[in-house]
Amino acid sequence: MRILVVLEHDERGLRLASRCALTLAREAAACSDGELELLVMGYEIGFVAQEAAAYAPVYCADLPGLQHCTADRAAKVIADAARDCGAGLVMGASTSWGKDCVGRAGGLLGGAMATDVTACAMRDGILAWRRAMFAGGVGAWIALEGDPLIVTVLPSAFDPAEPGGEAGEVTQMEVEEATLPNQIRFESAGTKSGGRPDVTEAAIVVSGGRAIRNSDDYERLIGGLADQMGAGTGSSRALVDAGITPNELQVGQTGKIVAPDLYLAIGISGAVQHLAGMKNSKVVAAINSDPEAPIFEFADYGLVGDAYEIIPELIATLSDDG
Ligand SMILES: Cc1cc2nc3c(=O)[nH]c(=O)nc-3n(C[C@H](O)[C@H](O)[C@H](O)COP(=O)(O)OP(=O)(O)OC[C@H]3O[C@@H](n4cnc5c(N)ncnc54)[C@H](O)[C@@H]3O)c2cc1C
Repeated sequence: MRILVVLEHDERGLRLASRCALTLAREAAACSDGELELLVMGYEIGFVAQEAAAYAPVYCADLPGLQHCTADRAAKVIADAARDCGAGLVMGASTSWGKDCVGRAGGLLGGAMATDVTACAMRDGILAWRRAMFAGGVGAWIALEGDPLIVTVLPSAFDPAEPGGEAGEVTQMEVEEATLPNQIRFESAGTKSGGRPDVTEAAIVVSGGRAIRNSDDYERLIGGLADQMGAGTGSSRALVDAGITPNELQVGQTGKIVAPDLYLAIGISGAVQHLAGMKNSKVVAAINSDPEAPIFEFADYGLVGDAYEIIPELIATLSDDG
């Protein structure tokens, strides 16, 4: 089976999330006797294609119409590449971009799709996928029936793949600009403040809940602690609903799903909808003023106290050590 892995990049190179997706793609290839092909797209991305070629053969779609590539265009390129190479399985990282573009490509290809996959294995001759279901209440093994199979991978569940084996070839895809959809027009892009790692990619996530009273406090306490630890920041929905944090930081059933090495929950009660987004974290530590808070039943480490007193002390201690 041919496995097409859609890779994301930024100005500096391949995104970490895509290298994590590659780790599962390699496992899928190993247990299904599959062959990996990679897809990168954009404009003037020769350096990205070369970086990707260190992992496997690469299809490169490089043309002006794919600069600031919108989801409708990306989906068409993915679907065309999947058809061209006869992919039986299309994979990508479960990032916002990946869910949007790979999911749309799935619609064009008409296959069967699973998102946020955390493992794969051959079971009774069928490639099975592990993913959380029912708001994280169930960790299920599922089989997909369709052609092709389309899978997005929860990046934080995997270490990033390292280059290996022989370098692959780069094949330029012939994409006619006139055939690309025009339903979405790129207007502008803004950079996120702070330059912190994305919450879905970070090895450590510092996450704040309703205990945090305003945006300045969030930045000072949650952001400040995250910066000392090289961590990404997250939040409960309570802070998003209150306009204190942006939607992209929400962790949970209706937000991002994360599985970092360490998830630090600060002033978060531990509602089931929040747990659904972080219960696969390797270690969970919680700080909460209420000793009866449900998060303590789930956390590996707990500290009872006022976040407004504890966090500044933690930041000061870490910065002294640094
Ligand atoms: C369909 C649906 C989907 C949802 N999806 C999500 C989702 O994706 N993500 C999500 O997070 N929620 C989601 N929710 C909401 C969820 O049910 C909870 O309401 C929410 O998670 C609560 O956020 P919280 O823990 O920050 O606030 P609270 O539950 O109010 O908890 C605040 C905690 O802070 C503690 N605290 C207060 N002051 C301090 C202090 N000074 N120091 C330390 N601790 C303090 C309190 O003891 C308390 O435990 C969803 C709900 C529904 C119905």
